[in-house]
Amino acid sequence: MASGSEIERLIQLLAKLPGLGPRSARRAALVLLKKRDLLLEPLAAAMAEAAAATRSCEICGNLDTVTPCTICRDPRRDPHLLCVVEDVADLWALERAGAINARYHVLGGALSPLDGVGPDDLGIDKLVARVADGGITEVILAVNATVEGQTTAHYIMDRLAGQNVRVSRLAHGVPVGGELDYLDEGTLSAAMRQRTAF
Ligand SMILES: [Zn+2]
Repeated sequence: MASGSEIERLIQLLAKLPGLGPRSARRAALVLLKKRDLLLEPLAAAMAEAAAATRSCEICGNLDTVTPCTICRDPRRDPHLLCVVEDVADLWALERAGAINARYHVLGGALSPLDGVGPDDLGIDKLVARVADGGITEVILAVNATVEGQTTAHYIMDRLAGQNVRVSRLAHGVPVGGELDYLDEGTLSAAMRQRTAF
C-alpha cells in the first residue's frame, strides 16, 4: 500500500463511480489531494450538502431537493402526458434534450426475471394508480431499446389495458446524423418497419 488508509478508502470509493476503474480512481484521487483547496474541500462540501438535501420525489421518483419535485410542481407541464422512464438518468437526458413537456414516472429499472426484478420492484402498481386517477390521456413508454426495456413496455401496456389512455412508445430507427451503412441489422430493420409518411 503506497498511501495511508484514508487515501486508500478515497480511491476505493472513487473506483465505484461509473467510468472509473482502480487506475483512473487513483489518478483522480491524486488530482483531488494535490488541489486540496480548489477541488477536494469544495467537492467534499458539495457532496455533503447534496447528500443532506436530495430527496426522491414521492410522485414520480425523480431526484431533487424538494418533494414533489420541481417538474411535478411545474404548472406549465402538460398534465395529460406521462412519460415513463427506467432511470432518473433517462429523465434528465429527455429534459436536457427538451424532448417533451410532460411529467414523468421513474421505474427505477426494467423487468428482468433472471436478475429477480419483478413488477413489485418497479412500482408499476403506483404507475397504474396514477393513470387510474384520471387526467392523463397518453402514457409514453420511453424505456430502453433492450430486451428488458421492451418486456417492461409490453407488461405496462397490458396493465394499462382497459384504461381510457393512449399508450405510445419511442420509435426505433436511424439516429439523427446517422449513416445507414453503419447501422446494425436490428436497427435498420426496425427503422424500415416504422417508416413514416414523408
Ligand atoms: Zn416528481
